Amino acid sequence: MIEVKNLVKKYGNHLAVDHLDFRLEPGKIYGFLGPNGAGKSTTMNIMTGYLGATEGAVLIDGHDILKEPEEAKKHIGYLPELPPLYTDMTVQEYLEFAAELKRIPKGERESAIEEVMKLTKLMDVQMRLIKNLSKGYRQRVGLAQAILGFPDIIILDEPTVGLDPKQIVEIRELIRNLSKKHTVVLSSHILAEVREVCDYILIISKGKLVASDTPENLEKRMNGTEGLEIEAKAAPEKIRSILSLVDDIAKLEIDIQKDGIARAKIETKNGADIREQVFFAFAGEKCPLLEMKASKASLEEIFMELTQGEEVYRDAGDL
Ligand code: ADP
Ligand code: MG
Repeated sequence: MIEVKNLVKKYGNHLAVDHLDFRLEPGKIYGFLGPNGAGKSTTMNIMTGYLGATEGAVLIDGHDILKEPEEAKKHIGYLPELPPLYTDMTVQEYLEFAAELKRIPKGERESAIEEVMKLTKLMDVQMRLIKNLSKGYRQRVGLAQAILGFPDIIILDEPTVGLDPKQIVEIRELIRNLSKKHTVVLSSHILAEVREVCDYILIISKGKLVASDTPENLEKRMNGTEGLEIEAKAAPEKIRSILSLVDDIAKLEIDIQKDGIARAKIETKNGADIREQVFFAFAGEKCPLLEMKASKASLEEIFMELTQGEEVYRDAGDL
């Protein structure tokens, strides 16, 4: 199990990760979904011990990734956004080197390497120098390195970037198979991708966790509840009674402000637009409505951003 507790990462004054708090259960595929710059890679770099946090902690099966890195890292395979491939090595040499770093016992290395090369379809290029491989093949070498030794937790930062559609389908299949025995966390800025592969989606925007749910539930939330926020000069009971005249209200929360003013948050059924009804209900009771604003489902805005997003690469030197 992975526990991320109140994680904060600041770059100077810039808050890249803003109090993230979640836990991931074994045997599921989790997707970090968010536009470029949302903080996905930073979070993954902290979760895998490659980057220190400004505040908060990450526990991997109970081991703090910073305080007990050896113990915690044993459980993790990681494909970073920019995999540190040694391009003057052949695929085989690189995976041998990775197996050594992972302390896979000597006698088991050869079969472990062969197994991941088969899974990632690298057998045909095993003697080729990495520098002569296409982007798609390099990505698979990174992936092979991540799953080598089959750690409990496999963390993949944008695993399908740079792959062609056929390779994407193969990698997705591979990820699904891995999840039978492993916890997989992957990131993506593509909604369709996480919807397709993940059991559970964590939507990250500007470093914050804005939603976490199954793809089905997120979709339901997207299609439903558009809300309304109002401010009126009336006691909460009065507001409640006026709004009882309005159809399509799913949920109502009222907060008392000062000077006899109250604010109400209204959730509507199936995204109904009730603004006119609300206006006339208050007018009919001669009750001053001071403010009314439609609260667009924030998910929808984020999804819009996600579906429009163009991939922007940072320089390799930036990480
Ligand atoms: P994502 O992976 O979701 O695209 P990142 O985690 O890479 O997002 O970046 C989150 C934010 O932190 C961005 O605004 C990015 O510009 C900033 N950032 C990332 N790495 C650094 C760094 N090494 N120095 C300064 N700012 C950084
Ligand atoms: Mg990233």
